[in-house]
Amino acid sequence: MDKNILLRISELVKIYRSGEQDFFALKKINLEIQEGEFCVILGPSGSGKSTLMNIIGGIDRATSGNVEIMDTAITKLKDKALTEFRRKNIGIVFQFYNLIPSLTIKENVEVASHIAHNPLDIDEVLNGVGILDQKNKFPSKLSGGQQQRVAIARAIVKNAKLLICDEPTGALDFENSIEVLKLLRDINKKYNTTVLLVTHNSEIAKMADRIVMLKNGEIVKNEQNTQILQAAQLEW
Ligand code: ADP
Repeated sequence: MDKNILLRISELVKIYRSGEQDFFALKKINLEIQEGEFCVILGPSGSGKSTLMNIIGGIDRATSGNVEIMDTAITKLKDKALTEFRRKNIGIVFQFYNLIPSLTIKENVEVASHIAHNPLDIDEVLNGVGILDQKNKFPSKLSGGQQQRVAIARAIVKNAKLLICDEPTGALDFENSIEVLKLLRDINKKYNTTVLLVTHNSEIAKMADRIVMLKNGEIVKNEQNTQILQAAQLEW
């Protein structure tokens, strides 16, 4: 694969079969993302964003087509190898933080660090996301914005090459959303992590290097952003 392409999606199809009817959630998607790119994927509810992210993230399987990440065709991997690949290379951040409530902040991040092959230093990552001083608390003692920072720390501690964020600010107020978006851009710059951020908020697309728009399971727009804004300049 071309050295600078981190992700290549070719002719990707996902069909959900329910009874007699086939439903095409993804219709022959083609997409290339460069290493280090910050890409925002926009689209209305039901357009196929989560389906696409789940296949790229190795959580779900395609019906046909290919997904290559670095030099690995993940769509061809067996389940065990796919899980290994995901653990090593992909960090995922969801709308609702999904932290383990009975573990402290540090322990939540440690869980991810332990199963990684080449993890970053936990305290350094906690410091980087601005919650090192909260590390011995339990998630329920933190605000939503702080919990999302922990979820981001957990996703990147494994030294992930690809960070997938599915509506990462969907449960946050405006100020916390901007802080989380700033943090994601900082991580993208610091570690050259490729970021795929899914949202239905078109304002967030203004901070991206690349904007991809999905509609009814198809890519209807895919362009480089020529006027990139800082997270702090966004308004909604
Ligand atoms: P988005 O993330 O853009 O809201 P999704 O990827 O969740 O969209 O869903 C795309 C389409 O696929 C929707 O019409 C949804 O109803 C359908 N879909 C998603 N998951 C399933 C499933 N497990 N079974 C059947 N249909 C599904």
